Amino acid sequence: MTARIAIIGAGVAGCGAARRAAELGADVTVIEQNHPGTGSSGRSAGVYNIQTLDPLDVEIRIRARELFFRLEKDRDLHLSRIGNVRIATEESQLPRLQEVIDLQHRLGADDSALLDRDGLQRLVPDLNVTGLAGGLLGPHDGHLDGQQLCDALLAEATDHGATLRSRTKVTGHHVTPDGHHALQLNGEEHGFDVVVNAAGGWAGQVGNLLGHQVPLLPQVHEVVQVKLPRQLDYVVPMVNLYMPGQAGEALYFRQDGPDSLIAGMHTYTVLDHIAVADPDDYRAKVSEEYLYEVAEALTERFLVDDLGFKPGWTGIYPLSPDSRFILGPESDSTVVTCAGLGGVGVTMGAIAGATAAEWALEGAPTTVPSITALRPDRPSLAAFRTQPTKNEVRA
Ligand SMILES: Cc1cc2nc3c(=O)[nH]c(=O)nc-3n(C[C@H](O)[C@H](O)[C@H](O)COP(=O)(O)OP(=O)(O)OC[C@H]3O[C@@H](n4cnc5c(N)ncnc54)[C@H](O)[C@@H]3O)c2cc1C
Repeated sequence: MTARIAIIGAGVAGCGAARRAAELGADVTVIEQNHPGTGSSGRSAGVYNIQTLDPLDVEIRIRARELFFRLEKDRDLHLSRIGNVRIATEESQLPRLQEVIDLQHRLGADDSALLDRDGLQRLVPDLNVTGLAGGLLGPHDGHLDGQQLCDALLAEATDHGATLRSRTKVTGHHVTPDGHHALQLNGEEHGFDVVVNAAGGWAGQVGNLLGHQVPLLPQVHEVVQVKLPRQLDYVVPMVNLYMPGQAGEALYFRQDGPDSLIAGMHTYTVLDHIAVADPDDYRAKVSEEYLYEVAEALTERFLVDDLGFKPGWTGIYPLSPDSRFILGPESDSTVVTCAGLGGVGVTMGAIAGATAAEWALEGAPTTVPSITALRPDRPSLAAFRTQPTKNEVRA
């Protein structure tokens, strides 16, 4: 019999899960309290890249980028291939970046290049390279529109028969005597065989409804818009000064329009100085403090005079306590979590979602088998499950 799968949340993760579940022949219903892409996915800086350090992350990003390239051809997904460079501040980091290139080659991606300081300067002539050692450049990386990505993934899902229920919030759940999941949707009960929790910053709340605690620490992150005094004679790639594994956050910036950039501070981790946010009620305006912090950091690093700064927008990084995705079945194999995508969910969420669908329908994440390392029952999350989190069940 065809499995009935409910996917809660139509962000990149949920839409990625829907695409794969529909491809696998399941009876797919995507349930979205608002409209697709209106959570964090539509509020991101849109950057995708394969330039990171952890081997599993590199593999997920390569598979995601392959999917983007295909969606570009088949679904008109617009990719701005402006390039992405991960900056090393120390010479000792360069061999590690070379190892990433070697790994990328083994995984089928061969476009990245290691740059020394002069190479960085040639790539971004206005970059202040003082204190920089080099970087890892992905010339086919860049940015996309998160909302458009959700739409493209969903279009593939609906072409395979999936149903989208927009403006439908999951408000209740119980397991029926015959072992099915009954979800409360707009006052009615609907039955499913398997459920994927892809509710982004709300995954803690939805996890509580499903009876599976998802320890999540959503935090507000912000984007600053930068006006250039004139059009430059080169395109500013995504410049990322954050090195995975480092403490705190670091500057990123990229070309946006012909005479504008966007900039912000990036991190993989939960930051002590930022409060845990309520995804239903978080600060919508960029703070003045943040605007000045980014303006100061960019002015120091990007030597173009008369840059203009104005607030952009805010959104939620749905972060997990140990900074890694929470992905896979809970004690009950018919409930699969795909959450904690933090600040990299646009880059990686479509494949995280696809593996969640495989787990739900086939019992194993076949696209990236080693993603089992991100299972919800891993030891590093154990401490956070026994304590109450800030995401308590809502009455
Ligand atoms: C300012 C900012 C910049 C960022 N920049 C980047 C970037 O450049 N590159 C990158 O890779 N990532 C970036 N990110 C991170 C990225 O946006 C997220 O990791 C990603 O969007 C998370 O996707 P998701 O599908 O898990 O969550 P979401 O997109 O939030 O989707 C979850 C969905 O679940 C729905 N939902 C919740 N509860 C229920 C319920 N009870 N019933 C039904 N539906 C429900 C919500 O309405 C929502 O649409 C950025 C984030 C922010 C805030």
